[in-house]
Amino acid sequence: MKFGGTSVADAQCISRVVDILEDHRQAGDEIAVVVSAQRGVTDQLIEAASALPTAKDPAAIVPLIQALSKRHMTTLEGAAPDSIAEVGSIIEEHLINLQNILFAVYNLRELTPRSKDYIISFGERLLAPIVSAALRQRGTPSTVLDGCEAGILTTPQHGESTSLPESDDRIKRKIGPLLGKEVPVIMGFMGCTRDGSLTTLGRSGSDYSASIIGAGIDADEIWIWTDVDGIMTCDPRVIKDARVMHSLSYLEVMELSYFGAKVMHPRSIEPAMRKNILVRVKNTFNPGHPGTVIVRNGQRDHRVVKALTYIDKVAAININGAQMIGRPGVAKAIFSILADHEVNVMMISQGSSEANISLIVDEAHLPVAVEALGALAKQGVVREVTANRDVCAVAVVGAGMAGAPGTGGRIFTALGKAGVNVMMISQGSSEANISFVVSQNDGPRAVRVLHDEFRLSEGSDE
Ligand code: ASP
Ligand code: MG
Repeated sequence: MKFGGTSVADAQCISRVVDILEDHRQAGDEIAVVVSAQRGVTDQLIEAASALPTAKDPAAIVPLIQALSKRHMTTLEGAAPDSIAEVGSIIEEHLINLQNILFAVYNLRELTPRSKDYIISFGERLLAPIVSAALRQRGTPSTVLDGCEAGILTTPQHGESTSLPESDDRIKRKIGPLLGKEVPVIMGFMGCTRDGSLTTLGRSGSDYSASIIGAGIDADEIWIWTDVDGIMTCDPRVIKDARVMHSLSYLEVMELSYFGAKVMHPRSIEPAMRKNILVRVKNTFNPGHPGTVIVRNGQRDHRVVKALTYIDKVAAININGAQMIGRPGVAKAIFSILADHEVNVMMISQGSSEANISLIVDEAHLPVAVEALGALAKQGVVREVTANRDVCAVAVVGAGMAGAPGTGGRIFTALGKAGVNVMMISQGSSEANISFVVSQNDGPRAVRVLHDEFRLSEGSDE
């Protein structure tokens, strides 16, 4: 079971978590717990660390440490009053360590990816001992493990590392023997490389940690506890009557999270899928709700389209140039240079005239992407590179679309009737996803039209 940042935001939340764990233990379940940092803490750490190399003085460090101390000590006092001395000194030790590192970053005027990873892991480091102490307070034996101690071995890509196959065995050896005897509390979001350097798994990486641990211990189920009832048909801020879905397939969830639905860390499905483990998304604040179940084959129903995502923080890049016609190396040059600059390309389309390639990238990556591609234009590999920030991407997701002729027709007919101009279309080969790009202004209307067209608000898949 993984508990996210809002589920452990304060002492009251943590006692709710302990209630849930106690109920399940009493029902005979053997549980390993993964926790993230308290809500907002990782953001605070990233912001502080990133500012230090160019800060004019180190004045922000001490107030940050004090704020973290106050917040975690208050949580500790409320959640585990018997452990104030013991866990309080652990927290204090972590904070002294963190403060020293932050001063070092300031003095060296340098934040390496490796030190950044170490710094941003402190949110989990500070919180996990409190959750574990709260369990002990109620009589459940519990110890704390960081991601590395729990057996998560990763690639060395700091900030976005991936678990290695060896993790399975290591986790089984380290966590397996604890199950049933106690409830181990594992710090999410982190692992380590073969040479022991700490890595993080990407933002929201505790979901991924939970899935890695679940796969390692061959769990019966992996539960992601969050602050919403489950995965919804669309972002409820855009579609007011969006509905919680009862069941989805691994593939559908991957398509949704890849295309910006804030449901789960995009790589977190892979370990569960590899071991065919059922994943449940549940609400800590409403545990009676059944939530969303994710399995190999999501429940089949008449619905070919199940959910929509909408991302407005994207930009389109158009690459023009007749030079591309019939020249095999051009696409390679474009994608290698983007990969070298760590630009994540979310959608690609190339017309059959081959004179034009359009890409959709994260808006934050746009300046770097344009500069990199500009270099190709100077070399004459392509002719012209233009960009448009004023766009958004919509993904239409549903495993039932595969082999269901006419879905694309229905989507674009509905949009056409509503007067929405579609600028770019792409369908992944999984056929579980059709995505398209419209101008920023048209985005909310496009998802509204499709949510209605496919009757996603009507709850017939329960
Ligand atoms: N604390 C990390 C983050 O904020 C990991 C997580 O919450 O899952 O990204
Ligand atoms: Mg999260």
